[in-house]
Amino acid sequence: MATKARFQAIRGTRDLLPPDTALWNRVEQTAREIFGTFGFGEIRPPIFEPAGLFARAVGGETDIVSKEMYTLEDYEASDLLDRTALALRPEATASVCRAYIEHNMQQWPQPVRLYYMGPMFRRERPQKGRYRQFYQIGAEVLEAVRPETAKDAVKELAKDAAVDAEVIEMVMTFFSRLQLEGAQLEVNSIGHAAPPVDGKNVCRRGYVEHLRSELAKVKDQLGADSQRRIETNPLRVLDSKLEHEQPIIEKLPRIASHLCEECKAHYAELKRQLDLRAVPYKENWRLVRGLDYYMRTTFEITARGLGSQNAVCGGGRYDGLVELLGGPPAKGIGFAIGEDRLILSLEESAKARATGKPESTVASRQSIDVYIAWMGANACAAAIRAARSLRAAGVSVELPPAEQKFGKALERAAKLGSRFALILGENELQSGEWTLKNLADGSQRKLTESELPGFLERATQ
Ligand code: AMP
Repeated sequence: MATKARFQAIRGTRDLLPPDTALWNRVEQTAREIFGTFGFGEIRPPIFEPAGLFARAVGGETDIVSKEMYTLEDYEASDLLDRTALALRPEATASVCRAYIEHNMQQWPQPVRLYYMGPMFRRERPQKGRYRQFYQIGAEVLEAVRPETAKDAVKELAKDAAVDAEVIEMVMTFFSRLQLEGAQLEVNSIGHAAPPVDGKNVCRRGYVEHLRSELAKVKDQLGADSQRRIETNPLRVLDSKLEHEQPIIEKLPRIASHLCEECKAHYAELKRQLDLRAVPYKENWRLVRGLDYYMRTTFEITARGLGSQNAVCGGGRYDGLVELLGGPPAKGIGFAIGEDRLILSLEESAKARATGKPESTVASRQSIDVYIAWMGANACAAAIRAARSLRAAGVSVELPPAEQKFGKALERAAKLGSRFALILGENELQSGEWTLKNLADGSQRKLTESELPGFLERATQ
């Protein structure tokens, strides 16, 4: 006999189930509220895009694009030869920049402030806090560079730093509204890709050159990944978590001494702005972030209870990315929060606070305020009416699809954790007074059909 195939969620993906999804909804609702107060509007870009968009924006050399991207081939039914490579999005900044260009957002009032939330896909090695389908909540501020704005460079730098600080302040406000415990902000400046001065590389390029030559001297003491990165992306060596590389990395040159005057001024102003907003931070010279497009500001926020995957948010400035994608000259700053990790951390702190409290039960998977125990064919129409008016008043109702014996109905109401049972039988229909039983204390009261929604709306608030 053939066995029936049993399907399972793909490795690195998972189902989010009630009651856990209630917290996901609360987190997303809070993000909408907080980001709204900072003037951000929501963008919902598609989940798949041309693969080339990410290769261009994130960088063909990055792990995200070269190893982890889920790509597929597509073609128009009318033209089988015209095939295009698509990718499930591994991040959303590139999509937001593409949308900025596609919808001529440089003609909107600047800056354009957008936030997004949704699934991202990376073929990473799954572990706690690391999935192949994971969720990000992110935001971007994009601003077209007008010829007249380029005139006062010093003022522009100060303005950019203030925008960076406000974006960081917004994330921290969001975390504190969620009562996330132990969120730690780290900041750094990674300079910018300045053109050479007198034939010499300066700022980040100068630093990368210096770093590469210092790394070459200690190459044989490094692991295979770092050895490879000396050529491909030496900044990424600073990200290494390998224990034996730590003392070597600590002795490497630091970017601060290579920053050009503008990047130095921008970084100093960022820190001053964070102080003005009372946002505590630590500086971390090794914070370079994995994506190619960052410049000047980079930041990362870690949280408790996450083990080794403890970064809940990463972000930075990416002036020039829109132009790189074929758009007008524009500045950008943004971040992405790992929602899965944020939720894990919130759950860990809730667990720590609630030690000794009972585990959530099946009852809490669906929250029901009122169970309608109706009996007799005549009561059916009244039960449907009651369900409709109660739901319209925001009360959650379970309406059994078939009549039940009184005892069975109450048993099920209790099993579902319902707070009330509305009893509708022959007697109630005849008297016009319906019986509402409080299942917590067993007390009962009589209410008319018109009194019911108002009473339950107040009682279940
Ligand atoms: P990134 O887009 O790499 O800067 O990541 C931003 C944030 O997304 C990180 O700080 C993590 O919180 C989260 N994140 C990135 N990759 C994953 C993953 N594979 N699983 C879960 N969360 C992730």
